[in-house]
Amino acid sequence: MFDPFQLKSLTGRGIMTSSKRKPATKLAGYFLIIMLLSLAIAVPGQIGTRKELKVPDILGFVTLKCDFHMHTVFSDGLVWPEVRVEEMWCEGYDAFSITDHVEYHPFSEDVSTDLNRSYELAKPDAEALGLLLIRGAEITRMKPPGHFNTLFLSDANLLNVEDFKEAMRAAHDQGAFIIWNHPGWPDDKEEWYPIHTELYEEGLLQGIEVVNGDTYYPSAHRWALEKKLTMFGNSDIHVPTAMEYDIAAGRHKPVTLVFAKERTAEAIKEALLARRTVVWSIDNLIGEEQYLRPIFDAAVEILTGEVELHGLHHSPIQIRNTCDVPFKLELVEGDDSLRVPAQFILYPDRTIRLSVRAAGAELSGEKEVEIRYRVTNLLIAPNEGMQVAFKLRVKFLSSTN
Ligand SMILES: [Zn+2]
Ligand SMILES: [Zn+2]
Repeated sequence: MFDPFQLKSLTGRGIMTSSKRKPATKLAGYFLIIMLLSLAIAVPGQIGTRKELKVPDILGFVTLKCDFHMHTVFSDGLVWPEVRVEEMWCEGYDAFSITDHVEYHPFSEDVSTDLNRSYELAKPDAEALGLLLIRGAEITRMKPPGHFNTLFLSDANLLNVEDFKEAMRAAHDQGAFIIWNHPGWPDDKEEWYPIHTELYEEGLLQGIEVVNGDTYYPSAHRWALEKKLTMFGNSDIHVPTAMEYDIAAGRHKPVTLVFAKERTAEAIKEALLARRTVVWSIDNLIGEEQYLRPIFDAAVEILTGEVELHGLHHSPIQIRNTCDVPFKLELVEGDDSLRVPAQFILYPDRTIRLSVRAAGAELSGEKEVEIRYRVTNLLIAPNEGMQVAFKLRVKFLSSTN
């Protein structure tokens, strides 16, 4: 079994026999040399690097970075479960779920079809690395109804029944949280079918993937808002992450940000039921304003709250963004007395400098100015960026002074 700490080779092998060694055969000598070499290789050292995903905690909750949809060789993925654990740790996630297909096992000649097996193999390593692993599975049917992730299962094998509704009920009976996956796949058509109304009304549908991979589903976004479904952005990754995402270049898989009371699986479930999530896809945050606004407010700070403007000379304003999400701003409403940038980007984990100037050289006196921008990548609804306001104290010194 893969041992990320390389501890096994340090224990119980060869050391005792070396001190007791009698004059030995040539073969035993070679054996000793090989054992000593293996001990030398197994010296503890740096064995991994994690890139933290920086998004602030908000509203008294801890912001957990989660991915609730991925596959391993226990369905049609191309990696072993422990590799998923290692990837999730390196990429800065806090919690995840391996959701192998209940009905689809292309590697069944070589790999067990026990639906709990990928979870059981990954669990010890996840615990050792401080990651929360949630037992899940993907009910996989032709659309409609489509595919559904079932999270917080106690026994995934109970979902392996022919009748679709029976499989969904088997998940529900275990207290599962159920998500409709990739609603626009495979036909590029997002359609809410009668079966989805049925599931929704029977309490068998609580969440929806607004994002799957790098695909955004605007209709799913709208349904989530209208029907009060929890929003998810999941990777659904089948291959090793590095084959699809250039992590070293700053790319990341989709993230479901969960605002939890504490860092436990139970707290995640409570947060999902309370719909406290935001989707982070590429540069976009998708979610309700009640969560997007505190994220922006916690991450962004105007360092130059007061500015002196001399005639028509430009003066700098510094604004800092402490999180890993960029914010792309477009001017909505300025102030007649001030010229400000029509658009700018608050880059991740950077301070930027903007220049402003008085609208006229003759202006004088002091005033508080409010400038409104739209953050085009904070989506509170399809095509609707959240508005923010910056307040500045401005002292105009006319050029005749
Ligand atoms: Zn699927
Ligand atoms: Zn899937």
